[in-house]
Amino acid sequence: MSEPSAKKDDRPIVWFDIDNTLYSASTKISQAMGQRIHAYFLTLGLDDDAASELHHRYYTQYGLALRGLTRHHQIDPIDFDRKCDGSLPLEDMIFPSESLRQLFLDIDRSKFRVWALTNAYRTHAERVLKILNLTDQIDGLVFCDYAEPNFVCKPEPAFYEQALKVANISDPTLCYFIDDNKSNVLAAKQLGWGRCVHFCEHGLESVEGGKKLVINNSDVGSSEIVSVTNLEELRSVWPEVFKQ
Ligand SMILES: [Mg+2]
Repeated sequence: MSEPSAKKDDRPIVWFDIDNTLYSASTKISQAMGQRIHAYFLTLGLDDDAASELHHRYYTQYGLALRGLTRHHQIDPIDFDRKCDGSLPLEDMIFPSESLRQLFLDIDRSKFRVWALTNAYRTHAERVLKILNLTDQIDGLVFCDYAEPNFVCKPEPAFYEQALKVANISDPTLCYFIDDNKSNVLAAKQLGWGRCVHFCEHGLESVEGGKKLVINNSDVGSSEIVSVTNLEELRSVWPEVFKQ
């Protein structure tokens, strides 16, 4: 699912989700992805309505439409990735941001590591980081390994547990995490991750295929999750993370 395990390092880790977190959902990349995924469902022989229904069901049930596809259909996940994420004209949709890069540069690296934690496959994740000019700011990438049979993804606990192993960190309280998908944030919180933040842009909610994500309520109250509408707010939410 990701890099070989990192060297032992006692620094806490700041984990960033990538899609719709490092760039705005207003880019409509999710919708473009959703259209491609919908087209892929149509190739399974479903009509338009059935494809929409199944796409939405798999997304809400598994956190990723592809997770449902690989469980219930004979499909090649790498082919899926190439046709969906791989065909997105990302270079025309997202652009590097000086302020975002500065935010990463201002993280105190003597005290913190910075990793990305994504449900995308490696190729998409690396492509986005490169376009955003952040490749050199990420110490490690934990991605969803579509090549692995029965791969796991957020918000499945096993995905977070694997992430800790790969990053070679045993204490989840040393993990900071930000994601635009509230279910993913709640899952991390339930697993004892230290400082979890929901990135929720004004007027924009997590969507895939144009449908609103159903947020699972859990026994971890939403009130324990800090919400930010702009990544700059992390400077005040996590002051210890940034150079003084
Ligand atoms: Mg996201």
